[in-house]
Amino acid sequence: MSTSTRSSQEVIAQFDQYVIPNYRRYPICLVRGEGSHVWDAEGNRYLDLFPGWGCNILGYSPKRVAEAVKEQVDRLIHVPNTWYMEPQGEFAEALCTRSFGKAFFCNSGAEANEGAIKLARLHTPPEKYKVITFQNGFHGRTFAAVSATAQPKYHDGIQPIMPGFLYAPHNDLNAVKELIDDETAGILIEPVQGEGGVNTPADGFLQGLRQLCDEHNLLLMFDEVQTCMGRTGNWFAYQTFGVQPDIMTLAKGVAGGVACGAIICRDEIAPSLRPGMHASTFGGNPMAMAAGLATVQTIEEEDLIPHAMRMSARFRQHFEKLKEELPIIGEIRVCGMMIGLDLTIPATPAVGKCMERGLLINATHDTVVRLLPALNVTEEQVDAGCAILADVLREMADPAV
Ligand SMILES: *Cc1c(COP(=O)(O)O)cnc(C)c1O
Repeated sequence: MSTSTRSSQEVIAQFDQYVIPNYRRYPICLVRGEGSHVWDAEGNRYLDLFPGWGCNILGYSPKRVAEAVKEQVDRLIHVPNTWYMEPQGEFAEALCTRSFGKAFFCNSGAEANEGAIKLARLHTPPEKYKVITFQNGFHGRTFAAVSATAQPKYHDGIQPIMPGFLYAPHNDLNAVKELIDDETAGILIEPVQGEGGVNTPADGFLQGLRQLCDEHNLLLMFDEVQTCMGRTGNWFAYQTFGVQPDIMTLAKGVAGGVACGAIICRDEIAPSLRPGMHASTFGGNPMAMAAGLATVQTIEEEDLIPHAMRMSARFRQHFEKLKEELPIIGEIRVCGMMIGLDLTIPATPAVGKCMERGLLINATHDTVVRLLPALNVTEEQVDAGCAILADVLREMADPAV
């Protein structure tokens, strides 16, 4: 089935010589994908329940997105933002009519968060510059985004990080209250922490943050880079939790796997990002915009959000049954198509063991098995994936067997 003419080993040798080794990569070269399946250079097929780190919200190379990109690149690949272009207006309308306000486009999650942080400083009085973020959060790797990320391991060796970020324990409203002062501009939070272990907000927590922001005139910013585009059962997670942010950031799945990020902000805030204060050369390019529009249309016309919620319930059933059998499963965390199994033992070995059996998953935060399945994952794929994962967890629970 391989379309590649080179083995994984040959590709790896080339990387060793020419690519900066900042990533831990699996020793496999992927060459082709379709839906939740992906093939390596040797022709092996994998079922991927973590496709593209959440970017492949419709699985690998979704047809309609691929067609939209092909059509667009034949006409116009790039035009700078000194011109109007039809696809950017169309995608902005598609996102904002499903949420609120106005959109700014960039290319990644970190870039969206950088822009949101600048917007928060620009929109508030000059003395206000502090942003409160949360322990175990994740906002990206560029300097402001990594400084907003309250995980010391990401700051090691790059200090001093950018000043102006204050970290509160997740789900601790009183701690947030104590951090607010006359210099606070806003609060930045993932509605569901992804990389930090699939941590959902405690009842009333996001509402409490909204209230604090209203009382103290702060901007509430949701990092929806991972939670956007139907992943939690609504187009955006703020709708799932019924709390309106002033600004939200999008990326990962927003354009069906094509690089794209966005900031959405309330209408009144938008003029603060005035000409000359912020820009992104490739941001909002016609190719990414066409991909984004096709992504929205696919999710809507194929009714994928309700489908994903049915699949989410199916995952939960499988794992609850398994939890009765396996005491190493501590906590099952399911929020739509964000799924975490917190184990009482390290989760990392599960990744390699699943891979040997043709299943791709992720482990995060030491003990959490994490899945970010495509919205269009099928019932058969859910069942097959859970069966493999169950076998692997059984083996890990009792290595003697
Ligand atoms: C992945 C992620 C980011 C960073 O996105 P990049 O596109 O890698 O810059 C930021 N925030 C959240 C919540 C993420 O999951």
